[in-house]
Amino acid sequence: MKGLMMDRPLMISSIIEHAALYHGDVEIVSRTADHKLHRYTYREAHGRAQQLANALTDWGVKPGDRVATLAWNDFRHYEIYFGAAGIGAVVHTVNPRLFPDQLVYIMNHAGDRVLFIDPMFAPLVASIRDQLTSIEQIYVLSGTLDEVEDPDALPGLIPYEELISGHSPECDWPVFDENTACGLCYTSGTTGNPKGVLYSHRSTLLHTLVVGQKDVIGLSSRDTLLPVVPMFHANAWGLVYLATMAGAKQVMPGKNLDGESLYRLFEDEGVTLTAGVPTVWMLLLGWMKENGKKGFSTLKEALIGGAAAPRAMIEAFENVHGVSVCHAWGMTEMSPVGTTGNLKRGMDDLPVEKQHDFKSTQGHTFWGVDLKIAGDDGKELPRDGEASGNLYVRGPYIASGYFGDEDSSDAFDADGWFRTGDVATLDPGGWMKITDRSKDVIKSGGEWISSIQLENAAMGHPGVKEAAVIGIHHPKWDERPLLVIVPDGEAPEKASVLEYLSEKVAKWWLPDDIAFVEEIPHTATGKIQKIRLREQFSDYSFPNT
Ligand code: AMP
Repeated sequence: MKGLMMDRPLMISSIIEHAALYHGDVEIVSRTADHKLHRYTYREAHGRAQQLANALTDWGVKPGDRVATLAWNDFRHYEIYFGAAGIGAVVHTVNPRLFPDQLVYIMNHAGDRVLFIDPMFAPLVASIRDQLTSIEQIYVLSGTLDEVEDPDALPGLIPYEELISGHSPECDWPVFDENTACGLCYTSGTTGNPKGVLYSHRSTLLHTLVVGQKDVIGLSSRDTLLPVVPMFHANAWGLVYLATMAGAKQVMPGKNLDGESLYRLFEDEGVTLTAGVPTVWMLLLGWMKENGKKGFSTLKEALIGGAAAPRAMIEAFENVHGVSVCHAWGMTEMSPVGTTGNLKRGMDDLPVEKQHDFKSTQGHTFWGVDLKIAGDDGKELPRDGEASGNLYVRGPYIASGYFGDEDSSDAFDADGWFRTGDVATLDPGGWMKITDRSKDVIKSGGEWISSIQLENAAMGHPGVKEAAVIGIHHPKWDERPLLVIVPDGEAPEKASVLEYLSEKVAKWWLPDDIAFVEEIPHTATGKIQKIRLREQFSDYSFPNT
């Protein structure tokens, strides 16, 4: 027997429609190339998203067409999220930090027809324009072409405001199958070509509802969100949809993500929740320390994800600045939030040190994401907090394949679970600890050493600004760890770092050597780029081997 409930499809347009109707006066504030700070309300945003929807339809955008963006977080990017998806088109958010060759590959592979760019990316796009085979029209996210350095280099470029002007601020949002695609995002592709994750209206709405739970992220209409995580990195972790659904105020930082710019926006706009990768927080915390700033007026919570949050960062936020940290884990393929670091029942009474033990893990599961770990033979391993294995996930907003990739079967096990490529432990309470990416673990004498745990431990040393650990060939042990450090000021004594580490990790985990560098390479989404680091040290061998 079927239930007797309305079968209303889950549509992205319904989120902004709701915000405009019931939170119509709430602000979205953004920094753009042509506005120091632009302010408007959900009501106005909805009107302009509808203008855009009408403009795109008139231009000839059809359901299923890919509409690409190469842009920072701001109000026009926000309007594309809703205006293009609302008419059944697919918003393809492209990461401008990728190499030009990767941009060409991704946009051609996606078959993008229309491209929206921030003015600052015009020279980059001009340099690859003749290789972009499917793009028919490029719009620049500004009022005029004045913001573009050399508009003649991109013939036919039209400002966004010109595109939407004159179009009606009302459209009857079409209602269609909720499984229709709404967004496309390519993974950063640390190995092989980037792969496209194709979200649907249904998966996006389900993800929004789930992360809205208080234990996960849980935003309220009284909150003010500043997503530092870019809208091109897994839909800004779904936060833009969540804030809109909740009717929370949003502050879009544009391209200025340095410590001072963020601090000023937090203070001036009354931000209560923010989200970003550890490298961004390193800059903010560094700037605050240098400028003698302690605490914030309104900021209550910082969401950290995308890469492991070092314990020292969690301690600085919580102990020095009074900001609660939610350290979460996820993947582009998972929409993307997969775990939450918010404490569970009974944990508020634990000593702070113990709470930080939990917060330093990758968090715990919630309804919506199933996790399991398995050995290389595919057999499931116990959830005892000890056994470490390949991490698999399953759920209604997790990718079931890749766009334009006929055979994505390698990415799934026989029962359809997605292989994350992470190696982790799981405990009976659902707390998960990533020990490494499967390709980054250091295999020493048949045992595994976690590069992430060593990095995190090293980051606590006062002389260390950033740390990365890679495996280097060793004639006896196969591989041993090399610790690469960006010093915080003068390079610390190697012996002092090793002594510090010996209190934190097993003796046989201690790095065989330490190298000091000026900079550690990062991927386009802020992760340590181990491949490049390994290349950098390809001629290195340990002393006395
Ligand atoms: P992406 O799809 O670019 O967001 O990358 C997903 C990958 O980032 C995961 O599979 C992890 O390897 C890594 N990652 C994300 N969040 C965390 C975290 N909190 N701790 C450690 N690694 C993380």
